[in-house]
Amino acid sequence: MEQALKQDLYQEFIKMEKDVHPIWSLGVNPIPSKTELKQAWIEKVFSVCNLLKRHPYMSGRSISEKTGLNKRQLAVAYKMIQRSNVSQDYFKSSKNRDYFNVVNHYFNYQLYTIVFFVGTNCPSRCLYCPNVKVDKNGRRRLITYNSLKGKKLSEKTLNRIFSDLTEIKDKGNNILVKISGGLEPLTNAKTMKIIIDLASQLGIRVKLFTNGLLFKDSGKRNIALAASDVRISLSTSDEKQYQNICFSDRVNPKFKHALSLLKENIKKLVRERNDLNPKCQIGFNTIVLPENHLQLVSLLELARELGIDYVDLKPDYFSNYDTVTRIAMENSIQKAQMVASHESYQNLYVNFTGSLFRNDLFWQSWPGICDAIRQSEFKLFITPFGHCSPVHYGAFPSSEASFQGKLPNYSIGEINDAQSLLDVLRHPFQLPKIDLKKLNPFELMLHLEITREEDDKAWGLPISVSPYHTRLRKDIPLDFFLILTESDPCPQESARGKREEV
Ligand code: SF4
Repeated sequence: MEQALKQDLYQEFIKMEKDVHPIWSLGVNPIPSKTELKQAWIEKVFSVCNLLKRHPYMSGRSISEKTGLNKRQLAVAYKMIQRSNVSQDYFKSSKNRDYFNVVNHYFNYQLYTIVFFVGTNCPSRCLYCPNVKVDKNGRRRLITYNSLKGKKLSEKTLNRIFSDLTEIKDKGNNILVKISGGLEPLTNAKTMKIIIDLASQLGIRVKLFTNGLLFKDSGKRNIALAASDVRISLSTSDEKQYQNICFSDRVNPKFKHALSLLKENIKKLVRERNDLNPKCQIGFNTIVLPENHLQLVSLLELARELGIDYVDLKPDYFSNYDTVTRIAMENSIQKAQMVASHESYQNLYVNFTGSLFRNDLFWQSWPGICDAIRQSEFKLFITPFGHCSPVHYGAFPSSEASFQGKLPNYSIGEINDAQSLLDVLRHPFQLPKIDLKKLNPFELMLHLEITREEDDKAWGLPISVSPYHTRLRKDIPLDFFLILTESDPCPQESARGKREEV
């Protein structure tokens, strides 16, 4: 990969010289760059690539200090990385691939994600669910929104939210709607249908997150299949284990054979999808736990048998594990990776997320609080009662103290008949102080990238040279790029510290 990457960077250097060339003929006299200068550049850019791969959130100023490249030189290096497909693949195949995916979605493609928590109940009691409390006798209790006084979002209010989303879309953003929990969204199929219909009318994609147990009802299947993506939570292929993960020993008789019921539901869903909406993707959302990691391969087999499209394997973001458990889990993941790469799995996309455990990179020593307003410019969670939270945890049921107290502590405002989504975004009623250590990994990545971009902008690096904004490949700030032919990338060694600054 290293050689291929350097080769690709070299090609980009040559292409950039050509792209910049027309401006030279407008009066600036270029000095053709020498081969050895180009080689020195490639080495420097390669070292920048490696720094970003390991620390994707690092600011340009810090990279400049570590590499000796000045601001304009770093702009050229960043542009080469941005334009090089091999560099981008290098990032996306690294341990930090989740970070690069977050950046790609939210920053490069300007995705605005709005997440509706519509469910106020759930038939399941999953072990890993933040809404489930386990008492000292092992009995599981669901925390609900019951203690929260308020009116659920009305159809009129939902209509208004979508007209605000049109305004956000018209400003050049892509919109993604997610219907999720909170609690199980299929328990409120009426609201789910209104949201899916409104989104479809505007050509907005909808991802539905569900445990699938209520798909026994054909009406609910029909509603769900109008979405673009139905993601079913399933973490094992073993009936007994499914019971252990999803229910306590006092199982509701309706769900005594819950996994068999779920499999039947999925078979029907896949069959009906082929007739109703072949574009709808159906997949599993699988949390890898100490309890289920040995079942991953059989879960993939089940997914293949059921004819679904993908499996997303994720960690339980809220837990830490000892080294032995962690290694055992990593081995199981590797085995599953090997199986998934077999040609018999070519119709099943298996995605292994990168930041696998809570004690991984993105939780280490990040002091401070998150800027709730900046964060809500990318993603917003709306509770069944209209409270808007910039973070996932802030939209969960509030009858018990959570990480940082109750739901209203996270809310930036409430959407209701008198106040729209845009009113809340423009005039938040409070700025919740959310500890960075309490964010989920994707929210922390969002925060780190917001900070990185702001630092670079303040330092004087335009967004068009961000190493991650591949859609801006053709946008070359020429004042920066005249340096291509005149600059030695190793100024500290060869120019005795005469570093050029803009
Ligand atoms: S299905 Fe979802 S909401 Fe219900 S208990 Fe499990 S994780 Fe929680």
